[in-house]
Amino acid sequence: MKWGLIGASTIASEYVIGAIRSQGDEIAAVMSGDAARGADYAARHGIPDSTTDLGGLLATPGVEAVYISTTNEKHHPQALAAIAAGKHVLCEKPLAMTVAEAAEMARAARAKGVVFATNHHLRNAGAHLAIRDLIAEGRIGRVLSVRVFHAVHLPPHLQGWRISDAGAGGGVIPDITVHDADTVRFYLGEDPVEVVAMAGVSGMGEGVEDSVMSVWSMPSGAMIQTHESFTHPFAGSGVEVHGTEGSIFGRGIMTQKPVGEVELVDASGRHAVAFDRHDLYGRGLALFAEAVAGRGRPAADGVDGVKSLAVATAVREAARTGRATRVNYEGF
Ligand code: NDP
Repeated sequence: MKWGLIGASTIASEYVIGAIRSQGDEIAAVMSGDAARGADYAARHGIPDSTTDLGGLLATPGVEAVYISTTNEKHHPQALAAIAAGKHVLCEKPLAMTVAEAAEMARAARAKGVVFATNHHLRNAGAHLAIRDLIAEGRIGRVLSVRVFHAVHLPPHLQGWRISDAGAGGGVIPDITVHDADTVRFYLGEDPVEVVAMAGVSGMGEGVEDSVMSVWSMPSGAMIQTHESFTHPFAGSGVEVHGTEGSIFGRGIMTQKPVGEVELVDASGRHAVAFDRHDLYGRGLALFAEAVAGRGRPAADGVDGVKSLAVATAVREAARTGRATRVNYEGF
């Protein structure tokens, strides 16, 4: 399959270009808002063509799919244009600036019959797949609670718009809470109902929050607690899932790499859980290609992107108002 890249981004250069090529797929062109940067990016990554014109990228002969990794406010118009042109779309999270826009994107893709996926990479991690499977197999009984520890230190090369530009979708809630929402939904197969939250600035945010803690209710009665931050150099990341018959501890697994440890603790003792250490983005791209070929579905589809954004949006609203906030899934 031939791809067009919309956005000359860091995530594409660090992970997704390699993941596309690992499938035997080709990248035909990259679109950047700046001609010189786009040309330089294309040259550095061995991409044959660059353009500043979205229509031109979408008209590149043979391009069947696009990967959108521009800043967040651009995802909505770019995805709608790509879908209208009949392209399959892998879009970065958060899908859009609002849940209504994200829902419009998912509906447009459905109406056009193209594959539309959200790049929630954590679902593709062997560690998270193993945790999801342990829960589904009943190994910890009925899930009582989930605690997500996702307070990290944002490296300098990723700070930029994330810490200072609300208009581009900056802030830790659209950046990280949205991933945690997707991960919890993936584990439990249900969607949060209501959230309470507090957000703040703890040394990095300039006009956007850099830290947040929230608590979510679930239809099953399970309680979810999450902590996301850009400012914690030594906290380490992790997940705890506690059930009536056991607990699962995932350490160092809220990351882009196939690393970390998972442990199951139950009445019989502590058990290290083995899991596959494949590349997260490669698996996402493989499932996307299968879906384009009519087999199965992407790891996280457009509706997953809408719902995970809906949870993050409710967290931000709850933090802003100080009130318990129901999650609005815009009909999904
Ligand atoms: P970047 O800041 O690297 O890229 C975003 C845009 O910024 C690019 O499209 C580019 O615009 C512009 N840009 C990039 N570098 C420069 C530069 N040196 N000078 C001027 N402009 C520049 O963002 P990320 O790659 O960190 O994030 C992009 C998207 O991907 C976001 O939506 C983010 O949420 C998501 N993301 C997802 C991850 C995941 O694992 N799923 C991980 C990281 C990010 P142009 O294209 O016009 O040149």
